[in-house]
Amino acid sequence: MESTDYLDDIVATVRQDMESHLGRGKVADYIPALARVDPKNFAIAIATCDGRTAQAGGVHLPFSIQSISKIFTLTLALNKLGANLWERVGREPSGSRFNSIVQLEAEKGIPRNPLINAGAVVITDALLDGGDADATIAEILGFMRRLADDPAIVIDDEVAESEAQTGFRNSALANFLRANENLKSKVEDVLKVYFNQCAIRMNCRQLARAGLYLANAGHDPLNHASVTTPFRAKRINAVMMTCGHYDASGDFACRVGLPGKSGVGGGILAIAPRKASICVWSPGLNAQGNSMVGSMALERLSSLTGWSVF
Ligand code: GLU
Repeated sequence: MESTDYLDDIVATVRQDMESHLGRGKVADYIPALARVDPKNFAIAIATCDGRTAQAGGVHLPFSIQSISKIFTLTLALNKLGANLWERVGREPSGSRFNSIVQLEAEKGIPRNPLINAGAVVITDALLDGGDADATIAEILGFMRRLADDPAIVIDDEVAESEAQTGFRNSALANFLRANENLKSKVEDVLKVYFNQCAIRMNCRQLARAGLYLANAGHDPLNHASVTTPFRAKRINAVMMTCGHYDASGDFACRVGLPGKSGVGGGILAIAPRKASICVWSPGLNAQGNSMVGSMALERLSSLTGWSVF
């Protein structure tokens, strides 16, 4: 892919402007593999719909994609079930923590949206559909490899294992969903797939490439594959905009104005519709569990490019 001076200048400016902020926020420390990541890491990569790229910082360094995986499993589940999926999960912002249990009880086992943990667990269950956990993990990993055009993408087994050892809240959510008949497969199988999808390791370049179909109405603009329908791509972007940053989604929409999804590994995938897919990575998180410097970088990028949808 060729690159352009215009975007190269912009990402260089964004990186420079973030320099004095590097290391801010708190790295996720609920598992050792995340806790030991250097908080001063920073990377930004852009892939445009017309095949250009621009990047700055450690764009080749892999990190744990964590909840960014929820965008891709949502795509697979919508392709599989269509609009019926919305009978099992809502599409309203939660205003609650990413792993809140209280809301799920109040709403009788129908998670508020597919991007909070409870909703993502339902999506994973829809993909699993009573089948084999390893086969579903392979399906998700294969999807990521195809989208990123890179067969070298792998799952970090240490992260998957630690997620399982510490995933008591996710386990509580899954059991509660099962008690409310909104989980069809065995709890242990659903959690196995969920923990493995969170443990996929990718770098900013790969994630920006993987998200391109969302910037291009569901169609991969580079290899011309149809990933999902334009209608579903629109839905996914809308859910990213309204729910992609948990209880800070409104703030992200105001500051950045792009559909985005964060992960506790410090990555954020953002979509500039019809233009580009962007990935930033900076491991320090804010109080809502979103990358602090990553959000700042996207705010700066949005103002320099004028890509906000508003
Ligand atoms: N593995 C994390 C969890 O399920 C993902 C949360 C996130 O990335 O926001 O708790």
